[in-house]
Amino acid sequence: MSTLEIRDLHVSVDTDKGTKEILKGVNLTVKSGETHAIMGPNGSGKSTLAYSIAGHPKYTVTSGTVTLDGEDVLAMKVDERARAGLFLAMQYPVEVPGVTVSNFLRTAKTAIDGEAPKLRHWVKDVKQAMTDLRMDDGFAERGVNEGFSGGEKKRHEILQLELLKPKIAILDETDSGLDVDALRIVSEGVNRAKETTDAGVLLITHYTRILRYIKPDFVHVFVNGRVAEEGGPELADRLEEEGYDRFLTPAGA
Ligand code: ADP
Ligand code: MG
Ligand code: MG
Repeated sequence: MSTLEIRDLHVSVDTDKGTKEILKGVNLTVKSGETHAIMGPNGSGKSTLAYSIAGHPKYTVTSGTVTLDGEDVLAMKVDERARAGLFLAMQYPVEVPGVTVSNFLRTAKTAIDGEAPKLRHWVKDVKQAMTDLRMDDGFAERGVNEGFSGGEKKRHEILQLELLKPKIAILDETDSGLDVDALRIVSEGVNRAKETTDAGVLLITHYTRILRYIKPDFVHVFVNGRVAEEGGPELADRLEEEGYDRFLTPAGA
């Protein structure tokens, strides 16, 4: 049983025009086996939350805490966060030219587990996960994110999720740019990972579409750098009908 706990998190970025506070006191707790959807308008700070938990150097935590099972995540280096059991799938994943998917996965698995996976099992697991995600064998020998289509990037993220077996997974706009078939395949991968590993999932999304396939236990509406409203799955249904308008202050008000 694992718990990711975010308490009164404030985060700033440096811009040309000085320092700008983006997260303004975020509180959130994600436990093993729970799926939390973070929904909100564009620019509300959802990706900033993901980057901050990931330890992206552009984002400065000015106050608040993030802990995983009581351990101070913010004090960990990026690779230590992964070893501790955090998995972050970013909205804009980076290319790692020259490193194949196959090597990348094995290196990551070895780093996270502290030992190399047993080859026979590993090869079988990778093959199975790739088949489940409808990826052809050649994919394993391509450079990470090099020339990947939007859909391939997302599948590659879910492939990592299934093989690396994190305690807590943060998925930022995993649904963006996917057609209905790809969305279903990717969602099934997330659901498989949830079932087999009991991971806690923080699903960041602008649209309610993915929530038809991945059922959230909790929905948090993110507005202007903090959680503005929380509820169960019914809140997502309400957002689907009403949009975010009622959360946005009219200009000049
Ligand atoms: P969301 O993911 O909800 O669309 P983001 O976290 O991407 O929101 O952005 C929140 C706000 O912070 C936006 O106004 C965005 O322009 C600003 N922002 C995010 N990252 C940076 C950055 N690296 N430099 C400057 N501004 C940023
Ligand atoms: Mg955005
Ligand atoms: Mg975003």
